[in-house]
Amino acid sequence: MSNLGKRHICEWGHVFYRRGGCTVCPVCAQQTSDAVFGRLARPAQRALRDAGIYSLAQLATYRREDILALHGMGKRGMQLLEELLQEQELSFLS
Ligand SMILES: [Zn+2]
Repeated sequence: MSNLGKRHICEWGHVFYRRGGCTVCPVCAQQTSDAVFGRLARPAQRALRDAGIYSLAQLATYRREDILALHGMGKRGMQLLEELLQEQELSFLS
């Protein structure tokens, strides 16, 4: 097996390489992330992406303080995320 991991093709035909069990397509995840978190400042978007968070459902599996601790995430970003979560009737773990 190559260093990149196993070759996968997503339902949209994107080819990507992943090790381990997670087979989320990074291209699709990026597009989802842009759609969901596009209102955030760039550094905050990058912070979520670096943490592997691409959706509000994923975000809701984290505690508020975990997200606030991410590099690039600020008070304004947190406020926006809370609003986005509330719109979907989700919330941070308590
Ligand atoms: Zn894809």
